[in-house]
Amino acid sequence: MADTAERTAVELLVENAVVLPMTGPDDLLMDGAVAIDGGRIAAVGPTAELRARFAPRETIDAREQLVMPGLVNTHMHLFGAFARGLVNDLSFTPWIQKKFYVTSRGLNPDNYYLGTQFTSIEMLKTGTTAFLDCGTYQELEEAAVAGVEASGMRAVLARAMADVQDDLAEFLSRSDRVTRENLEHAEAFMARFDGAAGGRVRAWPCPIQVTSSSDELCVGAMELAERFGVGIVTHSNVDREDIEAHGLRFGSRPIERFASLGILGRRFVGTHMAWLSDDEVQLLMDTGAAAIHCPSASMKGAYGAFSKGRFPELIGAGATVGLGTDGPAAACFLDMFREVHLAATGHKEARLDWTLVSPYQALELATIGSARAMLLEDEIGSLEEGKRADLIVLDLMRPEMIPWHEDNIVANLVYSGTGNLVHTVVVDGRVVVRGGEVLTLDEAEVLRAMQREAPRFVELSREWDARFWPDDHTRPHVFERGATA
Ligand SMILES: [Zn+2]
Repeated sequence: MADTAERTAVELLVENAVVLPMTGPDDLLMDGAVAIDGGRIAAVGPTAELRARFAPRETIDAREQLVMPGLVNTHMHLFGAFARGLVNDLSFTPWIQKKFYVTSRGLNPDNYYLGTQFTSIEMLKTGTTAFLDCGTYQELEEAAVAGVEASGMRAVLARAMADVQDDLAEFLSRSDRVTRENLEHAEAFMARFDGAAGGRVRAWPCPIQVTSSSDELCVGAMELAERFGVGIVTHSNVDREDIEAHGLRFGSRPIERFASLGILGRRFVGTHMAWLSDDEVQLLMDTGAAAIHCPSASMKGAYGAFSKGRFPELIGAGATVGLGTDGPAAACFLDMFREVHLAATGHKEARLDWTLVSPYQALELATIGSARAMLLEDEIGSLEEGKRADLIVLDLMRPEMIPWHEDNIVANLVYSGTGNLVHTVVVDGRVVVRGGEVLTLDEAEVLRAMQREAPRFVELSREWDARFWPDDHTRPHVFERGATA
């Protein structure tokens, strides 16, 4: 071994690990290491080689552990933190109405900050290092940024926008309603917070539902995104009801509308995307627009991502596909390993085709695929020299991973693993979880505070049920207002 004097000083060396860099299906180091300095990855390679090259200030011995990129959750809702388990077994439109009603009346800056810390704890402990908040609440943006800052996570905070008075609007009491106000407020949010928390926060615009967003709003949001060098994100082609409502109002399918508006491209992120026509699939492939797969939300909400969805075709054609949990009111969990499992198994079952979505492809969706969708593929999503140091260390000596070997380790992660494997989490070069314990936040105190806030949201849930529960919730929502945008 070289002298310390000849070695390059670095802050951290994670060594003796199985390293899965997600740079290609054959790239696996059975005795590998990752050197980290200045928040970035200085090198990835065999342990012996990196020990010879680097003099670390801190060493993590990751023997019998696996190191991989932190998971990237491309669809989450901070505003759903208090609605977990309260909004179930309704079709898409009343489901959103109830979620908007409960959250927009119940949230304030204090409990939104708390909910951001709370969801960050669940994400960090299950191996997610970056997430996209699809609809950061109007007037509460500062609390979300503060929560992300405190947690140590990386996030795209996409500010909610809606300007169409549709069947959803009256339940979203904080909506800006007017197109110009939406755009001005989103721009102010982006100008203030894009690049916050030492660059860990990116600020995007989010026309939240395709049915609630006028042409003018969508085009204006894309103009903002281009100016700030970010993307725009929406819920699109979610299910049969979403397609029907969009057709009634705009006379077209959502992805076709965005193509005709000239805003479908690398900066466009559509979420759920379960109901796509052949033309819309082709438009995504031609333009590079991203489709986000949220398997568990689709299964709970009966959207059709597996029975009708075209994700195998999109993945096979190399389209940009990310993976998300959706919010705590939708999927009801934020463990991305469970989503990876569903993405790898659900399409096989739905199509009776065991060749669809390999374990490695499913992990790609949760890492480099999601990073690409969030326009962060040059910074995160794989372990490569020069990228930001966002990585997770997983325990391999657990019953669900045994026996492991280079031949089955990826399959075991996908088919057998859950977020319970997570031991250590590093974001931007900083250790934020060690031994399964979150270091940045007081977990016990945050959980107790969440429980104290719970009754307020249960009351609102009961109130909505008493006033608005459909006469027959087994039937789809009936849209009574015609196509008056
Ligand atoms: Zn959502």
